[in-house]
Amino acid sequence: MSSKYEVVIGLEVHVQLTTNTKIFCGCSTAFGGEPNAHTCPVCLGLPGALPVLNKKAVEFAIRTGLATHCSIAPRSVFARKNYFYPDLPKGYQISQFELPVCEHGHLDIETEAGGAKRIGITRIHMEEDAGKLVHGDTADTAGSSFVDLNRACTPLLEVVSEPDMRSSDEAIAYLKKLHQIVVYLGVCDGNMEQGSFRCDANVSIRPWGQKEFGTRAELKNINSFRFIKQAIDYEVERQAEILEEGGRVVQETRLFDTTTGMTRSMRGKEEAHDYRYFPDPDLVPLVISEQWIDQVRQGLPELPEAKIERYVSEYGIPRYDAEVLSAERPVADYYDACVRLHGNAKACSNWVMGEVQRRLNEEGIGIDQCPVTPELLAGMLGRIDDNTISGKIAKTVFEEMWKSGDTADAIIEKKGLKQVTDTGAIEQIIDEILAANPGQVEEYRGGKEKVFGFFVGQVMKASKGKANPAAVNELLKKKLQG
Ligand SMILES: [Zn+2]
Repeated sequence: MSSKYEVVIGLEVHVQLTTNTKIFCGCSTAFGGEPNAHTCPVCLGLPGALPVLNKKAVEFAIRTGLATHCSIAPRSVFARKNYFYPDLPKGYQISQFELPVCEHGHLDIETEAGGAKRIGITRIHMEEDAGKLVHGDTADTAGSSFVDLNRACTPLLEVVSEPDMRSSDEAIAYLKKLHQIVVYLGVCDGNMEQGSFRCDANVSIRPWGQKEFGTRAELKNINSFRFIKQAIDYEVERQAEILEEGGRVVQETRLFDTTTGMTRSMRGKEEAHDYRYFPDPDLVPLVISEQWIDQVRQGLPELPEAKIERYVSEYGIPRYDAEVLSAERPVADYYDACVRLHGNAKACSNWVMGEVQRRLNEEGIGIDQCPVTPELLAGMLGRIDDNTISGKIAKTVFEEMWKSGDTADAIIEKKGLKQVTDTGAIEQIIDEILAANPGQVEEYRGGKEKVFGFFVGQVMKASKGKANPAAVNELLKKKLQG
């Protein structure tokens, strides 16, 4: 039904910054903690307490703006967004309204159905988060609500996109890209469950060819990629049904219910707040110099897009590998270190994407906790290159490095894993195997060449995997023909 309509999506993402302290006071931003333990007169909104802007938060905003191709405003202004709610003790939230810190950026995304596409970023502004209400759920506390202001005054960036997305897939691609960038930049921990990266989606539909946008619904505060997709898809169907029945979509704010997979009305346009924004008289305009912007630009890490290009053109690995390896910065850092130490980019990517990733998954740990360091891995790859061990034995060595933290050289020595390349020794084993299996030798000589694999297996087994496979192949062929 929805294929009759074009879908229009704009996203507003709240990115919680990883500064140690809050945006306008020195309180800790640590997650959790006893309720109201991380508070002071400023974030409690006590009369007379004055906000002081956190410089690190501004630097993070500049970093994010530069990485998303925004222009950085030389002068931006903090405003008061006035509304009353118990989680906001001042009665207003400090945010940026008319003059945000970053504007006119974009992100390039790619989806299977839509291909490559550029999504505009209207603006990025800085603001403080509100506190949290905890609703009582025991016999004593039912009916009561409790205020926890630990989160109040935590620094946020709000990243507002243009209404450029045309499907839930495009919305997810954009969100994943933005998520990857802010985590790469180190400005956000990316933890969606704890609300460090959460999203409002503006969704509307219109008949194909219509120029004007349809009436939109705003879906509030969704904190997982899967739920965002579900919420948008549900909302598109809901609006299409209304139009099909000759109805009219009303502008409203809707909540996504994760248990039913449906959205429901929270408030209509009539109940929407008039925030009566005005410049905060307690804060001077934020002035950012060209020099500071340049300094932040110099310190930007290499971002995934650039990494993928470098891996493909410089390292010569397949694009798919490059994408997997650059998806998370710690993995890319590990991989880069391996290549620096070992030189063979393809061998390194095979091991990082293979054994290393497999073991990390088994243990459920990140690569930053990997007991096999790039140094250890590169050392082992060197022993494969110089034929000290075979690729097969390398797996045994790797497992041993994982457990003991010893170097490959020490393990090879201690366990006697050195590859047998001495042809005399291999020949002797082959002779024994052939003598023990006259039937199979007859079969092979009678034209059944598949038996060859059986002999290779037997020889490798007899040598405990240490015989050089190339030498085994060559010698076996010679002996069987003879
Ligand atoms: Zn405080």
